[in-house]
Amino acid sequence: MATPDHLLKDWDGFALGAVLTSFEKPEEWTHSDNNSFTYSVADWRVEKPIFNADHCIHCQFCWVYCPDTSIISKDKKFSHIDYEHCKGCGICAHVCPTNPKSLIMFAERADEASELANWPKKEKKAGEENS
Ligand code: SF4
Ligand code: SF4
Repeated sequence: MATPDHLLKDWDGFALGAVLTSFEKPEEWTHSDNNSFTYSVADWRVEKPIFNADHCIHCQFCWVYCPDTSIISKDKKFSHIDYEHCKGCGICAHVCPTNPKSLIMFAERADEASELANWPKKEKKAGEENS
């Protein structure tokens, strides 16, 4: 997707230290033109997160840390990934605390059903096999 003309600016088009706000009207959840919800960065993605519900504890870490609000929660529980806006940064998978992880990054073309069937097993902690 090409950058819309009205967003094209010179390299110094913004004041130093300028903050690009996510919302025009936060109280109405109206996204600004600078926001990646309006201007999706999903076509940057070369890897995608896949979610495995069998291990999720609904801690919401992924929801908090996702920079593109692409982890969708409902009733404080993980609901789904918004692949229309996810840019594939991998932060959600990095912060997921379960063992094995409930979110893992795979190649963009990976088949979700196959990856779920071959999900990694729980990793033993150092010394656990001796106890
Ligand atoms: S990879 Fe995860 S953290 Fe990154 S944009 Fe996609 S859903 Fe959000
Ligand atoms: S960080 Fe992992 S365990 Fe926590 S809600 Fe997200 S997927 Fe589930």
